[in-house]
Amino acid sequence: MSAIKLEDVTKSYGGFNAVDDLSLEVKEGELLCVLGPSGCGKSTTMRMIGGLERPTEGDVHIAGQKVTRQPPYERDCSIVFQDWALFPHKTILENVAFGLKMDGIDRTKRKERARETLEMVQLDGHENKKPKELSGGQQQRVALARSLIVEPHVLLLDEPLSNLDKRLKEEMQLELKDIHKELDQTMVHVTHDQSEAFTLADRICIMNDGKLIQVGAPPDVYNNPKNQFVEEFLGDTNFLEGTVVETASDEVVAKTDLGCHVDIPVTNRQAAPDEGESVSISLRPENMQLRQSEIQTIKADGGDTRCTASGQVDNVIYRGSMTRLYIDTGSRTIFVEQQYDPDREIEEQQNIVIQWDPKRLVAFDNEETQFTTVEN
Ligand code: ATP
Repeated sequence: MSAIKLEDVTKSYGGFNAVDDLSLEVKEGELLCVLGPSGCGKSTTMRMIGGLERPTEGDVHIAGQKVTRQPPYERDCSIVFQDWALFPHKTILENVAFGLKMDGIDRTKRKERARETLEMVQLDGHENKKPKELSGGQQQRVALARSLIVEPHVLLLDEPLSNLDKRLKEEMQLELKDIHKELDQTMVHVTHDQSEAFTLADRICIMNDGKLIQVGAPPDVYNNPKNQFVEEFLGDTNFLEGTVVETASDEVVAKTDLGCHVDIPVTNRQAAPDEGESVSISLRPENMQLRQSEIQTIKADGGDTRCTASGQVDNVIYRGSMTRLYIDTGSRTIFVEQQYDPDREIEEQQNIVIQWDPKRLVAFDNEETQFTTVEN
């Protein structure tokens, strides 16, 4: 049985589908991140799970029970919002214990449970303070404790970390992950931040324009994107534009705007484009290797080269442990990322050869659907 099941759920506002025919199951104890650009329908999806919105069509189930028409307080779930809205005049202990008071649990037991929950979010010692005496990150932990104390079957988190600065956000991500592990708590976490989703999620659900595009474990969606939107949304990449010039049972070869021919491995020949059709090929910056070159001129035609291009380094950008290099190949610029190595520093104006393993690229047909053989 799934902790949450959404069945063909649509939410319309005056003819506009904020969520469009979405079906999804969240497993017991799973941490699912709903990820997508602003306005894609993430919060609306979460609000329908929590009962704050009613679907125009379709059904919501929690722990095997249909709850589509039940109000939020009758659903076994708790929500943590971006704006954590604590009671300003109550102490931290009272804020956290509040949910239990509503459940009619006696005072001594409430305080004991609130202390235990504050310990879990590492706020022991702050029980008697008021919210304004705590930092933003600490207040967010109080909001988390307040939701956890009622032991919901499902914990819903709507961009709860987006008001925190980078360092605090990363700390809280790890804490959330630990709490999830410790409690085996089913969580749905909404975010537009890819790195947050990669840090936290057991599985990531990627949405765009109200639709569910792909659900999978972080390495699956990153290495085996369903379409060009997912590839582009999950990280920086170079898209080469090309035309298929050769086809075989296990690969197609495309002539690209980089000048060179590119081998694209395919398993399902039927799903791959035919000769003459256009393709887009994604080369992630971390999936290319660089070799220094003695060649003095930029080779732009490269008609007979394969999976390699030469060029001149235009820009070197240090990013701490990584270096990003922009390389002008004559026909277009490619950016490549490498681990920073002080013994092998690459300088601007240097001639360089770019190479890649065909197994490390993904390609898309003219409908932006991925057709490559991917090895995870
Ligand atoms: P963000 O990351 O910016 O919070 P989101 O992915 O959570 O965005 P939603 O808040 O779910 O997006 O909104 C999805 C779409 O539905 C948006 O275009 C939004 O303007 C629209 N929408 C949401 N709520 C309403 C409403 N009550 N009335 C009309 N349109 C709405």
